[in-house]
Amino acid sequence: MRNDPALWPSPLWHLKKFTPDAPVLYFAPEVLQATARRFLEGFDGLVTYAVKANDHEAVLSNLVGAGLSAFDVASPLEMARVRAVAPDAVLHYHNPVRSRAEIAEAVGHGIASWSVDCPRELEKLVDVPRQGTEIAVRLRLPVAGAAYDFGEKFGADPDLAVALLRQAQQMGFATSLTFHPGTQCADPQAWAVYIVEAADVAKRAGVTLQRLNVGGGFAAHRSGVAPDLEAIFDRIAQETQRAFGGNAPKLVCEPGRAMVAEAFTLAVRVKAVRDSAVFLNDGIYGALTELRDIGVPDRISVVRSDGRSVTGENVGKVVYGPTCDSLDRLPDPVALPADIEEGDFVMIRAMGAYSASLSTGFNGYGLQQMTTVAAL
Ligand SMILES: *Cc1c(COP(=O)(O)O)cnc(C)c1O
Repeated sequence: MRNDPALWPSPLWHLKKFTPDAPVLYFAPEVLQATARRFLEGFDGLVTYAVKANDHEAVLSNLVGAGLSAFDVASPLEMARVRAVAPDAVLHYHNPVRSRAEIAEAVGHGIASWSVDCPRELEKLVDVPRQGTEIAVRLRLPVAGAAYDFGEKFGADPDLAVALLRQAQQMGFATSLTFHPGTQCADPQAWAVYIVEAADVAKRAGVTLQRLNVGGGFAAHRSGVAPDLEAIFDRIAQETQRAFGGNAPKLVCEPGRAMVAEAFTLAVRVKAVRDSAVFLNDGIYGALTELRDIGVPDRISVVRSDGRSVTGENVGKVVYGPTCDSLDRLPDPVALPADIEEGDFVMIRAMGAYSASLSTGFNGYGLQQMTTVAAL
């Protein structure tokens, strides 16, 4: 994705001047740095950034600029991307299924923490140098509260987690537990349930945890009021004290979405309006992929190409993307002004996570431009 090196005052300013015919992702570095500081100041432990949410070089370098020094990576390419902007960064390799070639490459990157959810994957790590290197056993519970459940794919049930903790300790690794409550999780209770279970697993294993990694999952502001991140941070700290007492491990978190979402606004353009349907210049093969899976946010506004707000009453419109594939539509109608017209821009806030990183070039469409703005 091209990154326009100029700094424009705002998305509206840029849209009026250039009326871009392709989707544009507007990036406000100030907002990203403020969010990073909010995590660093509010979370009582190590803050790592889950790179998959948005791996753009400008994102990584602004996070480093705000003081972030640790990253959650899932593949050798993500490791290289982080190393390119932060050669001394601490890397956590928390994708629990790895090929042997990936493991060898990761050893070269000096991984500090490896997550594991099954004995065979732990055995594959037998030659990883110890030197304080951590095995983070990934715990899985049936927990509600997130947009979708990350426990479906990864994680060890409590009994298996007990066995893996013991095995990791016997192999000479530092031990920790990790979990992920599921993405866009607004309910602090989801973390609390995991923390209580983690304390129990550690006790049953007879292992003192060096750290407890409470994952990502922190919600972005997609609709309604902004999520209260500090309330979740406080709840995590309190539950950890309560569950572990004097033996409390140090905390780690790995936000992706909540770190990066708010720093970007997506502007897409209306190509055509037909009856109750709207054709946009981006769709599910571009930056709107996630809207199909976790729903459409309501922080949407529509402007004419001269910058005037389109304020008609909202009606449900079927939204199609630009490709020739009939699957390229959002599953449910989207509330848009009845007077929306060809050439209008639809501005969607908080689109920094899982947008650029998921956009394809299918059919010659998708996200190609990122533009930096002073404010959103
Ligand atoms: C994707 C992922 C994250 C980030 O999740 P968000 O919901 O974006 O905060 C954190 N940790 C792991 C292991 C992940 O796979």
